[in-house]
Amino acid sequence: MDLAAPPSLLPDALRLRRHLHVGGEWTSPAGTDVIDVENPSTGEPIGQVPAGTAADVDAAVAAARAAFPGWAATAPAERSAYLDRLHAALAARADDLARTIAVELGAPLKLATRVQVALPLIVLRDHVALAARPPVEETIGNSLVVREPIGVVGAITPWNYPLHQVMAKVAPALAAGCTVVLKPSELTPLTAYLLFDAVTEAALPPGVLNLVPGTGAVVGEALARHPDVDLVSFTGSTATGTRIMRLAADRIARVALELGGKSANVILPDADLPTAVKVGVGNALMNSGQTCTAWTRMLVHRDRYAEALDLVAKAVAGYGVGDPFDPATRLGPLVSAAQATRVRGHVERALAEGARLVAGGPDAPVPARGHFVAPTVFADVHPDGALAQEEVFGPVLAVLPFDDTDEAVAIANNSRYGLAGAVWSADTEAALAVARRLRTGAVDINGAAFNPLAPFGGYKQSGLGRELGVHGLAEFCELKAIQR
Ligand code: NAD
Repeated sequence: MDLAAPPSLLPDALRLRRHLHVGGEWTSPAGTDVIDVENPSTGEPIGQVPAGTAADVDAAVAAARAAFPGWAATAPAERSAYLDRLHAALAARADDLARTIAVELGAPLKLATRVQVALPLIVLRDHVALAARPPVEETIGNSLVVREPIGVVGAITPWNYPLHQVMAKVAPALAAGCTVVLKPSELTPLTAYLLFDAVTEAALPPGVLNLVPGTGAVVGEALARHPDVDLVSFTGSTATGTRIMRLAADRIARVALELGGKSANVILPDADLPTAVKVGVGNALMNSGQTCTAWTRMLVHRDRYAEALDLVAKAVAGYGVGDPFDPATRLGPLVSAAQATRVRGHVERALAEGARLVAGGPDAPVPARGHFVAPTVFADVHPDGALAQEEVFGPVLAVLPFDDTDEAVAIANNSRYGLAGAVWSADTEAALAVARRLRTGAVDINGAAFNPLAPFGGYKQSGLGRELGVHGLAEFCELKAIQR
């Protein structure tokens, strides 16, 4: 194949991968099919990985099963030391990771460095500490309640944060004493290969962490239905989550699902409007809008609606769209042609439904090559309309007016999703009262910082279970009551 990325962007060693990682070794896949990895900024091929098969999944699950008793019995301090070594090996690759994510996902290099790579390193470091703690045991009456690792985990991850989504599963699974077979997204598999370069350097015990790249239909489904996978931990779309739950249901396998979102950013009338709008637009557009928690519905009190729309349009005008390696770029491309087409379809549909275009739109200029979509804002979006209800997963923001707090809460909760949200007010108690009424797994007040130790996950169709921190760790454990 003709590989188009100049070596200065991504050396061959990072982008031409021929093996799986099973039982602690780089192994050859059972089949010969490959997956071409693309640079979404140009549409050109930049790498290749094997397309795994069900036989590869069988081998990887067998390796994880064989490793499980030993890893589960490893002392907390020892597991923590392995994770610490993995952290060091991964941190040493931070620059390569950021460049790889900028190339295969199209994330601006600054975002790739400061968020896409920095956050999972923090998560892994947190789990070095969590793994070191002795397992939590409780006494309830005559019962000793102990937590035990759940077993073999099948981890299936999306492309939008290719390292973070993996780390949010792998770090707690390993800390809890589980073993893992990872299937990363077929759109961004090279990042996972860099992780496994670090796994090799850290010399994790064979079979503790295994890699089978491939498509969802083949490798993902084989993992989800595998009789020897105890927990399927999945992050991705609600549609795929539904499918995985069905496959797991046949054997009552545990599932943990982190799914889609349509989060509301509620700006109360007394809020610092310029800050609320600036941060709100930044949140909606981060990673080209390909963020599950993105606040894609901005709800503004009618008294300040016109002022807010003006601020939104000015903020969006500051988002340069283009080459992820250009320091002036704030929005890279969408991950694929299919994703860009889907997002453009949402824009066309919003126009057809009568939403008022405030910024961007189908005619706004974007680079001719690559899968770019201009940041786009609609006003007067009907709360029941498609743009207020469906996850776009692109740089598209809907702004909706409300007349009082009850109406704002009702609009915010008028969603099949319940992942995240925000509230802005000069009165933090009033903001907290609204935050408590939102049916979502997380709410940020006045732009408060993301907390990687807080439980992360959704209400309603945004998922099942939680990731990160002690609550995330609990997802990888079973409870046992011993009476005495
Ligand atoms: P996706 O569901 O298409 O794919 C996610 C993963 O599942 C990929 O690895 C894919 O290969 C695999 N997959 C696809 N079909 C499968 C099947 N039938 N069986 C098993 N595995 C299968 O999602 P995506 O397009 O990669 O990611 C975007 C979606 O992920 C959005 O909906 C977004 O909201 C969601 N997401 C959620 C969170 C969260 O934490 N809640 C985080 C990031 C992304």
